[in-house]
Amino acid sequence: MLQLRPNCECCDRDLPADTHDALICSFECTFCRDCADQRLSGICPNCGGELVQRPRRPANTLAQFPASKQRIHSATGCSPS
Ligand SMILES: [Zn+2]
Ligand SMILES: [Zn+2]
Repeated sequence: MLQLRPNCECCDRDLPADTHDALICSFECTFCRDCADQRLSGICPNCGGELVQRPRRPANTLAQFPASKQRIHSATGCSPS
């Protein structure tokens, strides 16, 4: 199950479970669309994998399968290595 992390790892923007603007890589590194497009060129800076839109979890399942509340923010997460 996806963690649905609550924020962008790069700019720390909130990314709710129902947003269209969250992108993830296969390791669930999570970024907002602005960072993914403008700073990262669609590539995860942590693992080099592609960033794709995170599927939204239907609201009626969030009570049973809640999104992660653990914020992950990396000051260096934005810079492609
Ligand atoms: Zn961001
Ligand atoms: Zn990654």
